[in-house]
Amino acid sequence: MKPEKIWLSSPHMGGKEFEYVQEAFASNWVAPLGPNVNGFEASLEAYLGQGSHIAALSSGTAAIHLALILLGVERGDEVLCQSLTFSASANPIVYQGATPVFIDSEPDTWNICPSHLETAIKDRIAKGKKPKAIIAVHLYGMPFKVNEVMAVAERYEIPVIEDSAEALGSSYNGQKCGTFGAIGILSFNGNKIITTSGGGALVSKNEKIKEKAIFLATQARDEAPHYQHSEIGYNYRLSNISAGIGRGQMEVLDEHVQLRRKMHDFYKLVFEDREGISVFSEPSDMLFSNHWLSCITVDATRAGISSEAIREALAQDNIESRTLWKPMHLQPVYWDAPYYGAKISETLFQQGLCLPSGSNLTDTDRERICAVLEKCK
Ligand SMILES: *Cc1c(COP(=O)(O)O)cnc(C)c1O
Repeated sequence: MKPEKIWLSSPHMGGKEFEYVQEAFASNWVAPLGPNVNGFEASLEAYLGQGSHIAALSSGTAAIHLALILLGVERGDEVLCQSLTFSASANPIVYQGATPVFIDSEPDTWNICPSHLETAIKDRIAKGKKPKAIIAVHLYGMPFKVNEVMAVAERYEIPVIEDSAEALGSSYNGQKCGTFGAIGILSFNGNKIITTSGGGALVSKNEKIKEKAIFLATQARDEAPHYQHSEIGYNYRLSNISAGIGRGQMEVLDEHVQLRRKMHDFYKLVFEDREGISVFSEPSDMLFSNHWLSCITVDATRAGISSEAIREALAQDNIESRTLWKPMHLQPVYWDAPYYGAKISETLFQQGLCLPSGSNLTDTDRERICAVLEKCK
């Protein structure tokens, strides 16, 4: 018989979620609005601080789409985007009829490289088109180089969309991720650090942006007794049932961040003296990662084993692990998109592996994972 599956990252309920969902049923707020939506937004706003205003939405992808619309991205525009990321960071650019221009990573945080970013901006301007926005990602919870990236963005006056889908609970210089960009976005998909089963949010310092996001997310109805529309709207609001799950999850968020970080410490110990294998860690104390996923890179010649062989060994014992995101500039769907960089993201993709990282993993799970990894030599 196969041992029980150990997942990469699975939902972890805190306990109160079901009460909030039951309240929604009891009061018949079974709709994409209601007390849980307001309560969830308020607790996110308090958590992120910095005077954040938050619109709860149906997904992180929807949040990126609305962010692009709110920043005026239109057909024919160009948007700069980190290449090493999940496709949902980039796809909304195409929904708008705009073109993504992909940027390589830098090796410290695996996120958008400030110097390739600047090269790209200069070159696109020289070619006659100034990019409309920059999408930077805090991949696997690791903050990108905020000071450096924001400095480039400000120099050329291009707004940053901060994709914080994987980084709720991370911070940079003591300030929470999600609060740095012109607009930030969060995701509460099933595998993220907290989940609403599916959901997302748009973060802004400006209450008007929140109001406009909600207006667009609820079909863009003009103020009139009948249904009247002067703009194209979307059905992107979060349901009051899902938001109930989110309210419960917010109560255990910090505890779950600590547990994810404990998984990272566990892998640091497992690979302590292992030649050729390094655990992805904060390059300095200024960065604080929620370690949504713990990742390693494996230099196969020095380690005597490849990341793929480790993935297969774990799978043999019914333990899920996964390659890093395949860079967008290597995706068939984006082959003709411009790319600026070298081979950092490509090399990370070849050498990297995400390991089971859930806040709900047990000592027994860790023993099983450790036993397989010890044998991988
Ligand atoms: C999950 C994720 C998204 C999209 O969020 P959904 O809620 O799944 O739509 C966007 N960007 C990154 C980096 C993600 O990991």
